[in-house]
Amino acid sequence: MKKEFVVIGLGRFGGSIVSELIELGANVMAIDITPSKVDEYADIATQAVVADTTDESALLSLGIRNFQHVIVAIGENIQASILTTLILKEIGVPKLTVKAQNEYHKKLLEKLGADHIVRPERDMGIRVANNVLSNNILDYLELSEEHSIAEIIVDGKVAGRTIIELNIRAKYGINIVAIKRQESIMISPQADEEILEGDVLIVIGSDSDIHNFEKKLFH
Ligand code: ATP
Repeated sequence: MKKEFVVIGLGRFGGSIVSELIELGANVMAIDITPSKVDEYADIATQAVVADTTDESALLSLGIRNFQHVIVAIGENIQASILTTLILKEIGVPKLTVKAQNEYHKKLLEKLGADHIVRPERDMGIRVANNVLSNNILDYLELSEEHSIAEIIVDGKVAGRTIIELNIRAKYGINIVAIKRQESIMISPQADEEILEGDVLIVIGSDSDIHNFEKKLFH
């Protein structure tokens, strides 16, 4: 059975979620208060509906409670985002992902019980900053305030040595969770695995440990 989602708010963020979910084979009900936005997604989404999601009866009549996962991508209108989230929680939607505009908005959404809160501009800013800071860090994904997963590309300096020789966990406090090598990916590589030039190490650890590791071994 196809996975079913509702996306509320068809700005750039919500709109790209709709397009990508459809591309990946999901069913998506796209909702916006603005008819022109809904028109834009009429041929893309499985169903595109004009509705004010701060109106509980409108949400109920759309059968929202039957969907597994609702994504609230209302940005600037924080009041509408909060009210929508509150109503969706009351209706009992199983999974709720909400976009937050700022730290206060995020805290409120946490209190309301949103399952997953995203801050796309901020998150992307962090990723871009890390990418431009280091030639070796290809990608950076924040897990918490202090911990992240990073993709680091291996150059000549480290190549040919094993994970145990580099003593990565003890010396740098980070773990290599996977190694991407050409088309393949090694999950939880063995300690005696030799690291090759061009490998992409997927590491997990605190931000400071990741940066220290990257600086010591790759600069
Ligand atoms: P982006 O950065 O993703 O383009 P944004 O952060 O500027 O978006 P907005 O444009 O404020 O976000 O909101 C996204 C969409 O949410 C808009 O298309 C807007 O019409 C819609 N929206 C706002 N309030 C409601 C509401 N009460 N019910 C349904 N949709 C709403």
